[in-house]
Amino acid sequence: MTIASSMEEAGFRPASRIASIGVSQILEIGRKAASLKAEGKPVIVLGAGEPDFDTPTTIKDAAKAAIDRGETKYTALDGTPALKRAIVEKFRRENGVDYTTDEVTVATGAKQILFNAFMASLDPGDEVIIPTPFWTSYSDIVEICGGVPVLVPCDGAAGFRLKADQLERAITPRTRWVLLNSPSNPSGAAYSAEDYRPLLDTLLRHPQVWLMVDDMYEHIVYDGFDFVTPAALEPRLKSRILTINGVSKAYAMTGWRIGYAGGPRDLIKAMAVVQSQSTSCPSSVSQAAALAALTGPQGILAERRESFRERRDLVVKALNEIAGLNCRVPEGAFYAFAGCAGMIGRIKPDGASIASDRDFTDYLLDSAHVAVVPGSAFGLSPYFRISYATAKSELEEALDRIAEACGRLRR
Ligand code: PMP
Repeated sequence: MTIASSMEEAGFRPASRIASIGVSQILEIGRKAASLKAEGKPVIVLGAGEPDFDTPTTIKDAAKAAIDRGETKYTALDGTPALKRAIVEKFRRENGVDYTTDEVTVATGAKQILFNAFMASLDPGDEVIIPTPFWTSYSDIVEICGGVPVLVPCDGAAGFRLKADQLERAITPRTRWVLLNSPSNPSGAAYSAEDYRPLLDTLLRHPQVWLMVDDMYEHIVYDGFDFVTPAALEPRLKSRILTINGVSKAYAMTGWRIGYAGGPRDLIKAMAVVQSQSTSCPSSVSQAAALAALTGPQGILAERRESFRERRDLVVKALNEIAGLNCRVPEGAFYAFAGCAGMIGRIKPDGASIASDRDFTDYLLDSAHVAVVPGSAFGLSPYFRISYATAKSELEEALDRIAEACGRLRR
């Protein structure tokens, strides 16, 4: 065989580090919804993880001004000095945590922060404890970085929150990190100071285990929920906590791609090494926009929170009125995570039975033209997630259709 023909026949072989990572169910459902839409079906998509609001005008203006000033070049590797100072000030003002500018880092979205952190810290076989349900990217990023996700189921009865005895049991000599997300995507559950306390006490007894917290939805909390972050609650752990945040959800800036974190200097430095060989720096213009977001008027946060709360109430009430579904009232984020155990085993009009949450969400898409995401995508079944960052009229229509479709299922 010639070298040329052997090359032709070889085809593409994915690297082993990504071979076990499947296509996201969320993407698959999105594709199916798009093709139904293209056929002219009136599909309502409640799958998106982004606010439906536009980025505030003051933030857009700051980006335009940055372009006009010529801020269109590479910036400092992990954030402009001005943005880093604003982040230090944000952590102090909103969270009561003191970081210095060399203890904060900026990246192309919180997603890249997670990637940099795991890439910089995991050796093959190192374990990361992730309570389920979890944002789908967590386990995939851990795997790409050579780590082993250790999934710990936390169902609705436990408020979708990890408990100290579960954490204790999950810790092994290979545990490097525990990853907590409050409020959570997909469950909307949040940890109060009382919820965090026993977990932090457990971590104090295991000095080799570090804590990564994803505070992305910090500003989207309801009913006076008092948001807290572990680095503020337990100063003795601060030297092994990475506090992740970003502007995507709070300021409706998903497309600008700016996330940031505060943590111990050596970790932050190692994350910069990873970033230096991937993106070199976050976008200069987006950093100017993020600076305006963090230092500008903050009234928008409360306004939008109120609008999300109205929609949360509407969605949770409607879901709980459907026999066979139940939905815990989430403390935050813009997701409702409903249990659908009551639908498993029911018979569809075509005679087939619903065997899983994925079957149920496929049925809702096919028969009610409503796209939602099954719990299996987030590591916990049988549940499904509705993103309510959508106009109220669409939500009402979608919930009517879901109720009707559920009514057509036979026992
Ligand atoms: N964390 C959580 C919990 C999220 O839901 C998301 C976005 N879906 C992110 C992090 C990533 O946000 P970004 O990369 O846009 O900053």
